[in-house]
Amino acid sequence: MSFRARLTLIYTVFFALALLLLGCGTYFAVRQALYAGVQRELSAATSQVRAIFNAGGLEPIRTPTGELRLFLRVEFIQIFNNPNLVAQIFRTDGELLDSTPNLGNRELPLPPEALLLGPEDVGTGYSVVREVGGLRIESLVTPLVLSGNEQVVGLVQISRPLRDVDLTLGVLTAMLISGSAIALLLTGLGATLIAGRVLRPIDELTRTAQGIVNAEDLAQRVPVPPHQDEFQRLTITINDLLARLEDLFTTQRRFVADVSHELRTPLAAMQGNLEVLDRGGLRDAELATEAVIDMRRETGRLIRMVNDLLLLAQSDAHVELRCELVELDTLVLEVYRELRPLAQGVHLRIGNEDQVTIKGDRDRLKQALLNLGVNALQYTPQGGSVTLSLEQRDGFACLSVADTGIGIEETELAHVFARFYRADQSRSRHSGGAGLGLSIVKRVAEAHQGYATVASQLGRGSTFAIWLPLAVQPDLVEARPVDETVQV
Ligand code: ADP
Repeated sequence: MSFRARLTLIYTVFFALALLLLGCGTYFAVRQALYAGVQRELSAATSQVRAIFNAGGLEPIRTPTGELRLFLRVEFIQIFNNPNLVAQIFRTDGELLDSTPNLGNRELPLPPEALLLGPEDVGTGYSVVREVGGLRIESLVTPLVLSGNEQVVGLVQISRPLRDVDLTLGVLTAMLISGSAIALLLTGLGATLIAGRVLRPIDELTRTAQGIVNAEDLAQRVPVPPHQDEFQRLTITINDLLARLEDLFTTQRRFVADVSHELRTPLAAMQGNLEVLDRGGLRDAELATEAVIDMRRETGRLIRMVNDLLLLAQSDAHVELRCELVELDTLVLEVYRELRPLAQGVHLRIGNEDQVTIKGDRDRLKQALLNLGVNALQYTPQGGSVTLSLEQRDGFACLSVADTGIGIEETELAHVFARFYRADQSRSRHSGGAGLGLSIVKRVAEAHQGYATVASQLGRGSTFAIWLPLAVQPDLVEARPVDETVQV
């Protein structure tokens, strides 16, 4: 069943239930009110008949045994005159004494239960609904008691045909059923139309998405509906998703191309050297040594690159980080010691060194800081300086490496953290860098819920920093300090 049909069905079923409840409620309320009216009428008529008899319809007669007996002057019933009601007077043994003329020649006997009525039942009486000759009749029987004497001298039965009540209830039922049927029909039609209208944007969205899948063109976007509603949000989300997918595919394609390109260069160099050796280079000791040195350099470069790629792949695959307490000041000192042998004419020093401990993966943090340090030493000419610092700022630990080196052009700043990016293709090729060092720094910072920044001026040096939240809280991650550095 289509979603549209299901929506229509659910809507109609709920509406039908509401109608049923409302219909039943109305029917029973009206029925109750009508029967209460009938009861009131019967009670009023009963009081009237009793008043008539109390006013003189009872005659005390002494029996031959000397006992005082009350006799009814039955003709008094004729005084009661209501065309809608039939009044009957019975003896206590159930024999009909007299009735109002509108009874005609129909028979309306006393219900047997009424013979059990005692003087205490004067107020309530006994009510019954019967069908006589195809007509429903409600009767109220009450005992006739002489005031001051607790003796039942007769029974009064007031009856009323329920034709008008039945008619009213019949008309009401017919109206409720036909009205509900029409309302349900209209609701079903309306729900189908509304569901169709509501689902049209989804149909369009599906068609466009299908078109994108068929054309295998992730650059296409779904047209955003003009109204600010759920569909607009859905479309925007799908477009964002497409953009992200496109981005991922492009990155992946570029990544594969870059990796093959990067691998080709050292491999080609090694192949060249092997050919030199093959063509008699082995006999020339100087040539052979040169070729071996070359090949060693290239294999070293390959190993470095493969290691870097492995590290990146691991952080991409969200391999679990070790979560240990890391004393960042000790880490800075350790990195400083490892960098010192590489300094060669560059003044390496430690600047600010706050005592900060965070939770994280010590090895990866060290690798990231080493990458920054090696870069700084590499791009700083002799006589320049490189400063490692550790500061606690705005809820973050900031590990920074500042140098007075060659700097980076402003246009390139935003890209330096991208994979295989080299700010100036010519200057880093000879150093053997594959453009992966900074992407590792970025991934390590992000894996710790932090981020990496760079501030640099061409010819005036650069400052790279890793910002790590002291307590990993989502709002802390959002609340990044704003300065002129480039955030990645
Ligand atoms: P590589 O392995 O080539 O050094 P990185 O990802 O570490 O790759 O760096 C990317 C590029 O950013 C480098 O090629 C270099 O041009 C530039 N770069 C990195 N650090 C510095 C720095 N301290 N000073 C100037 N340029 C730098």
